[in-house]
Amino acid sequence: MLKPFDDNARELDALFSVELISDGFDLLVESRGGASYGPNLARNSEYAPALELHLFRMAELGSELVELHVASSVAMKMPEHDRKVKLDKFPLPLNLSPTMDFRELRLSIGRASAAFGRTDGSDRGNRTKRMRLRMKWSVAKVMSINTLEGMLARPIATVANELPTHDPDKLQERAARVAAQYQAAAKRSIVPPPLGQSVPSKAKDSSSRFVRDPAVIAWVLNEAAGYCEICGRAAPFSRADGQPYLEVHHVRPLGEGGPDTIDNAAACCPNCHRQLHHDPGRDMLRRDAIGLIARLRDYPRIAGNVATVSKEPQIVE
Ligand SMILES: [Zn+2]
Ligand SMILES: [Zn+2]
Repeated sequence: MLKPFDDNARELDALFSVELISDGFDLLVESRGGASYGPNLARNSEYAPALELHLFRMAELGSELVELHVASSVAMKMPEHDRKVKLDKFPLPLNLSPTMDFRELRLSIGRASAAFGRTDGSDRGNRTKRMRLRMKWSVAKVMSINTLEGMLARPIATVANELPTHDPDKLQERAARVAAQYQAAAKRSIVPPPLGQSVPSKAKDSSSRFVRDPAVIAWVLNEAAGYCEICGRAAPFSRADGQPYLEVHHVRPLGEGGPDTIDNAAACCPNCHRQLHHDPGRDMLRRDAIGLIARLRDYPRIAGNVATVSKEPQIVE
C-alpha cells in the first residue's frame, strides 16, 4: 500500500493499492477512521481529497469505472456480487473524463458507501469505507504493478517526442535525449510508456529501412536498468556518456510485421542479441523471451513486409 502525492508533491494521508485484472485494474482505497484529536488519531484522514485525486488521474489515463464494490471487513464476508453498489448520479460503466465534476463523483461514491448494508433507504452511515473501484484500461496489460501504482501515486510527467528515424546515429542520439528525460522525471514523477508505432514506416530513401521511435528504445532501456532482460547479466560495458550498453531487439522483427512498440521490444546484451538473431534454435529463444518478459506480446509473422537488413550490428534491429 502507498499514499498518493498531489501535484505539488505533497503526500496525502490516504493509503491505497492496485491489483491487476484481465482488462484493467482494481483501485483499493483504505477506509478513513479514528478521530481528529485524542488518543485514537485519524487514519487515512485525507480519504476524500485522495479519492478525488485518484479519480482525476484515472480519467487522465482514459480509464473507465466499470464497477464499485464496498470492501470493508463486513462486506468481504459476502459474495462479490453482494458487495457491488450503484451510484446515484452516475450510471456505471462510466468513462472518466478529465473535465468531469470529481467532487460530485466522490460524494456519490461516499453516499453509496454510506447506504451499503442499510435497508431503510437512508444514506446515513460511514461515507469513507474501504472501497474497490474496478477500472477498465487495456494499457494495464503491458504494465508492471509498480509502474501502475507509481502512475497513480505521483504526478505524471510527459516526455518530449523525438522523431523516429532510420539513421542509427541519429536514433542513438535521440534515444539518449529521451532517456535523460525519463531519468530526470523518474526522480519525482512517473512517465507513461511511449505508444511507439504499431505500423513502423519506412524511410523514403533508397535504403528502404524502417524508422524507429527513440522513445521506445529509451523506455525499454530505462525499464531494463542496465541488465540484459534475457540472461539477467549486467551490461558488458558503459557508453562514453556513462549509460550501460544494451541493445534493443524487436522480438517480432519489423521486417516480419512486428510493431515498434514496448510490448515487442526487449533490452539485451550483445551476446543474447546476436544469439536471438543467429542461433539455429532462435524460434525457441524467441518464445522463451516472451515467457520471461511480462510486457511482451507474441505478434504473428506477417509475410511480405521485408525490409533491407543492415549488415552491421546496431543498437536496434
Ligand atoms: Zn544477455
Ligand atoms: Zn534484434
